[in-house]
Amino acid sequence: MNIKENTKYLLNELPIEVQLVAVSKTKSNKEILESYEAGQRVFGENKVQEMTRKHELLPKDIEWHMIGHVQSNKVKYMAPFVTLIHGVDSLKLLKEINKQALKNNRVISCLLQVNIAKESTKFGLSNMECIEALRAAESLENIIVKGLMGMATYTDDLTQIEQEFDGLKQLYDQLAKKHSKFEILSMGMSGDYKIAIAKGSNMIRVGSKIFGERNY
Ligand SMILES: *Cc1c(COP(=O)(O)O)cnc(C)c1O
Repeated sequence: MNIKENTKYLLNELPIEVQLVAVSKTKSNKEILESYEAGQRVFGENKVQEMTRKHELLPKDIEWHMIGHVQSNKVKYMAPFVTLIHGVDSLKLLKEINKQALKNNRVISCLLQVNIAKESTKFGLSNMECIEALRAAESLENIIVKGLMGMATYTDDLTQIEQEFDGLKQLYDQLAKKHSKFEILSMGMSGDYKIAIAKGSNMIRVGSKIFGERNY
């Protein structure tokens, strides 16, 4: 794996309006720095403690995104530095982020995670829950909900993936009419980011295509 070349390739290939989040979970600081050398500055992690450790040791111009499922009691560790929290799937979590942001004198940007996969095992809000959470979030002054995040079903059925991304884009467009702060639609991973971009994504989260397969 040539991480630097992989990163360069992706950065060159992407349309200008699409932001790349390099998903560095389980990868070492050395590997992250190889991607950094290619110009990448946005990295995504799915565990708060791991992200916090990496933030402490790596260059300070890196933007850290939390892309995983977050437990409320972990929010305090990342509140001082996290740039964007993708996986917000409850009002309880939004309130905790708001509280910890206030303590740190910050306003933290969040995305609501929508359950777009037809299988019921994935995390995320239903469309209705998403609309409700957004309404409740209006009174929270230390968070900004900047958009939506979703993960398609892991399948070879491209039509199904397209339908799931289409559904998320429709919800996004509908909500963006009312919410002027909406600007991010986070969808697409190594296996499906091309479809996601064709369907209107402007933020992709790519791990294995940059860093190689993960051995958990
Ligand atoms: C791991 C992960 C990714 C990246 O997955 P790859 O298939 O390696 O690109 C993207 N989004 C989320 C939420 C993840 O947990």
